[in-house]
Amino acid sequence: MISTELFQQLVQCTNDSIVVTLATPLDPPGPIISYVNPAFTTLSGYQPEEIIGKSTRLRHGPKTDLKTVALVQTAMEAQQPIRVELLCYSRTNEETWLDINIVPLRNTHGRVTHFAAIERDLTATKQLQQELTLMANTDPLTGLLNRRRFMECAGTEFSRAQRYQRELAMVMLDIDHFKNINDARGHLVGDQVIKAMARHTQTLLRTSDWPARWGGEEFAILMPETTLDGATNLAERLRADLATLTVKTADESLQFTVSAGVAARTENDHHFMALMERADAALYAAKHAGRNCVHLHDTRETRAA
Ligand code: GH3
Ligand code: MG
Ligand code: MG
Repeated sequence: MISTELFQQLVQCTNDSIVVTLATPLDPPGPIISYVNPAFTTLSGYQPEEIIGKSTRLRHGPKTDLKTVALVQTAMEAQQPIRVELLCYSRTNEETWLDINIVPLRNTHGRVTHFAAIERDLTATKQLQQELTLMANTDPLTGLLNRRRFMECAGTEFSRAQRYQRELAMVMLDIDHFKNINDARGHLVGDQVIKAMARHTQTLLRTSDWPARWGGEEFAILMPETTLDGATNLAERLRADLATLTVKTADESLQFTVSAGVAARTENDHHFMALMERADAALYAAKHAGRNCVHLHDTRETRAA
């Protein structure tokens, strides 16, 4: 064993933040802080004299998950150790993600007199996780879902629609003669057109719809709770709207048109790809019919000029 003085030095020197609270009360105004080490001051900005005697709840804020706080309280009431991730706030109100390990401390009679929370700053790791998730799920040019994430969402929505016999529709959109835009005005202008198209499309959709960049200048939109007619109306509105959109580049303005194919789930579909293939076939038919129009699968109806 090492001496109490050496233990004290250890607690003073560690990079981990240590907060000791009284065993009671646990309900507000508890848990009451009775000790913090220097690493706590570095992490939270609170000097010991500002926080000792106060409640640990002082560090909670609008985004602190109260369910996690309740879990912690339940464990403390049962005098059990618990480890959680919790968003807390610094003295200057900065959000800080913490990995918190809470353990009961017993006196020589075995009675729990305090709890110690050993905390590590997880903020950078959490931010990195969020960035990686965003990168894995979205297309960097438009910010829409990428093909991989879209496939996952479509799989989930399809299963749900199948299980509960719900409507599910799909629209595929492709910019007309996009190669001409790239060839005549350059790739960067082409990119601007793709971005404008994505931005504008989003403004016309419901929050329950799933728009994605399927690839190049081709977009897929999955529409839960939407009939073939409903999706066709939306696709037609999108087509007409996009045809009036003007994209302003550094030295010119340009317009473009899109073609769309629409399909809806049927009882015979076993996978959302069946739906996708029909929407794609309808898109191909729309291109063949002269572009700047919407086609439905399994009819020869053309809905636009
Ligand atoms: P259609 O009316 O038949 O659709 O003719 P199109 O010229 O639009 O033909 P297509 O849809 O096959 O053209 C796709 C082009 O999109 C080819 C490719 O060079 C270009 N492209 C793919 N991804 C990007 C991108 O990220 N940025 C830009 N600027 N161009 C892209
Ligand atoms: Mg095209
Ligand atoms: Mg294309």
